[in-house]
Amino acid sequence: MEDISKKYDNGEVTILWQPHLCIHSANCVKGLPRVFNPGVKPWINIYAAETEGIVEQVSKCPSGALSIINSGD
Ligand code: SF4
Repeated sequence: MEDISKKYDNGEVTILWQPHLCIHSANCVKGLPRVFNPGVKPWINIYAAETEGIVEQVSKCPSGALSIINSGD
């Protein structure tokens, strides 16, 4: 299977989402459900929280499926 990745950019930061790495710990969904909601598409709404909170939550992803890259990368 081809590894796909997606980027979500709010103009300050970009979340890089690499689903093949996800171990479904649900840290992100529990920690910041307004942003990470698997029940809707797209499942990441980067505009639903402040950048600081998003960066903090992404840093708690144990698998690296969620990571932060600089906008424009
Ligand atoms: S925190 Fe990371 S590993 Fe856990 S469900 Fe979210 S994306 Fe997947």
